[in-house]
Amino acid sequence: MNYKNILLPFSVALVLLYETSCQQSQQTDFNTYGRKVSSDTLRTKINLPTPASSAAPQHYKNAATETPQKNDSIASQMLLGNPSNATNSTVNADNYLIDHKYYIESYSRSRATPNWVSWHIGAEDLGNTERLNNFRPDTSLPGGWYEVNQSAYKGSGFDKGHNCPSGDRTSSTAANSSTFLMNNMIPQAPNNNQHTWEHLESYCRNQVKKGNEIYVIMGSYGSGGSGKNGYAETIDNGRINVPSHIWKVVIVIPEGSDDLQRINTNTRVIAVDTPNDNAIAPNWMKYLCTVRDIEKATGYDLLSALPRSVQNRIEVEKFKGGN
Ligand code: MN
Repeated sequence: MNYKNILLPFSVALVLLYETSCQQSQQTDFNTYGRKVSSDTLRTKINLPTPASSAAPQHYKNAATETPQKNDSIASQMLLGNPSNATNSTVNADNYLIDHKYYIESYSRSRATPNWVSWHIGAEDLGNTERLNNFRPDTSLPGGWYEVNQSAYKGSGFDKGHNCPSGDRTSSTAANSSTFLMNNMIPQAPNNNQHTWEHLESYCRNQVKKGNEIYVIMGSYGSGGSGKNGYAETIDNGRINVPSHIWKVVIVIPEGSDDLQRINTNTRVIAVDTPNDNAIAPNWMKYLCTVRDIEKATGYDLLSALPRSVQNRIEVEKFKGGN
């Protein structure tokens, strides 16, 4: 046997194998903010099969095995519309719809944060479950996508800032636990998170305790914020975008049914747009704006499920305060 004839193809095969494994391990590193190399492109180049997870997203499988709720989550948590027309398709990686059951989000793969999160708060959501603090990656993201983990914000000077807050989901362990997925978080200046934002969240829960129900849409945009350690545009070695602005739209209606029909020009609408800056004032009322202002800043259509005539009225008025 002539070993030289075998050795050459064998070495070529070894080199190819090595390169393939390097490319595979680079997939995580490529998934960084600002570098838009999709794992699907890489997968095509190296001829890997598409993972089963992009064909059948894991969170839908999980949802099916959990106890069904009285309402379909899309219908209840996102009743007021899908502001960016997010879809659950991997080709829509920067506007990727995720149904977490207890809240819905549009996730951005390149920012590694939500674009926006939408949820409903009723009396049934506020219970006695203690804050679980089980921050963890969302392992149901499509194969090859970077999964932000619980230590990614460490030493960054920014808080792991919930979009859908832990305090709004205290009816059960499953509900509270869902809010600690890292793709419900943004790098948030500590004074924004712990004071301004916390006060607004408490205000909303108090409205519910007084017999109201609430729809909330929260989001962030831009790049560059100032945390405890100063200014940063990204954290986690460039993988996570630091938003420059954090906004929220709140619709307050008395507890009842047929909610879409009940929202009208007399409905309490609160919109705030805050700087992601540790020098922020603790009073959220200082950052009141109109829904239309946020639409202009983000390009979204908020409250799109409401009649256009209602939107045109309630989206241009600024909240005047009230208990
Ligand atoms: Mn609108």
